[in-house]
Amino acid sequence: PFRYDASMAMFDRALAVIPSGVPGHLGPTEGCFVPQSAYPRFSDRAEGTRFWDLDGNCYIDYMCGYGPNVLGYRDPDVDAAVAAQAAKEDVVSLPSSIMVEFAELLVDTVASADWAFFAKNGGDTTTLAIMTARAATMRKKIVFVKGFYHGVSPWTQKLDYPGVLEEDVANNLYVPFNDLAALRKLLSENSGEIAALIAQPYMHGNFVDNELPADGYWQAVRALCDQYGVVLIVDDVRAGFRLDMAGSDHYFGFQADLICFCKALANGYNVSALCGRDSLKSTVSSLTYTGSYWMSAVPFAAGIATITKLAEIDAPARFAQLGTELTTGLVQAAADNGFHLVTSGAPALFYLRLADDDSLMLHQEWIAECVQRGVYFSSHHNHFMNAAMTRADITETVEIAHEAFAVLRSRHG
Ligand code: PMP
Repeated sequence: PFRYDASMAMFDRALAVIPSGVPGHLGPTEGCFVPQSAYPRFSDRAEGTRFWDLDGNCYIDYMCGYGPNVLGYRDPDVDAAVAAQAAKEDVVSLPSSIMVEFAELLVDTVASADWAFFAKNGGDTTTLAIMTARAATMRKKIVFVKGFYHGVSPWTQKLDYPGVLEEDVANNLYVPFNDLAALRKLLSENSGEIAALIAQPYMHGNFVDNELPADGYWQAVRALCDQYGVVLIVDDVRAGFRLDMAGSDHYFGFQADLICFCKALANGYNVSALCGRDSLKSTVSSLTYTGSYWMSAVPFAAGIATITKLAEIDAPARFAQLGTELTTGLVQAAADNGFHLVTSGAPALFYLRLADDDSLMLHQEWIAECVQRGVYFSSHHNHFMNAAMTRADITETVEIAHEAFAVLRSRHG
């Protein structure tokens, strides 16, 4: 198994000058990375499907930077577009016209997009979507689907989280996913007061099997939103362009009013986009909403190259195919050693759970053995496929997974 001496020494330095050392979702205290001792703390370089940590250990990376790595790290076509744009300009006193080209490409690519508004992070776009819905409807309340994640703005958090005011979440209503009866009840009880329903296209929560929409669910939600004048916001920050180039609402056969993109938009260059229907365009224009780097040109060049290439190679089909081959291989590797591995969610964003132990400790043990042999899995978060992955990566991953199961079997009998 790998050693992480250099990583841990750097983490001690980080703890002295950065709150929690590595803050946020890449940090070891977030819970997805358990057991913490199995994980390195810092990456040193990355290429294609892999990254190397500070101690020189190499990993086939199924977290893909938590999504942005969609074509493979340092994709040559994206990086060439970036270098060409960087040689011209990036952040200037006027936007570069490449912003318009990127918006045109998104409007052509995404089924529910009549326009695109650019920002930096996924949370910028979910917040903009909520403000847009409230401004358009002159209503306050927002429906959330339980198990959601829409970023870290106070309106997305819970009342018992530090720093969150009662007022921040006072207008939040919650329904379970795939539960139309509960949604119908909520909408009728709050008729005329609900601005928006915001939801991920399917539930990719942490610590739980991921859940796809039931047949007809989204079509019924769409009809209910129309009936009650509720803006339907799809948060496609995580799944966007991995299921369908035209948007995950298109994939599930319905149309969002507003759709949020970020992670897979520019292969790691920092840009996000809110797209939407014509009927909400003038509302977005009326809002006060901008940021220092939101019109930076280099990420737009990266975005154009990324979306163009993803479409050219039909990346979503490739993710589905290789993701299915991988999860099938992992389930078989488990079965060969007497274990029962459950996979859930879309294969492009597969979630794993070892079902032989409800405490999930055995699952964590298996993940730890994989990570320390060079397969970067997370214990309780969905994974991500990228387009650089080959059958050889899948074969190597399944071999390592097999070895990790064999270790568990010899340890526990
Ligand atoms: N929505 C979803 C579904 C996400 O997965 C994320 C990021 N994990 C966000 C919103 C927030 O995006 P960001 O962290 O870029 O603000």
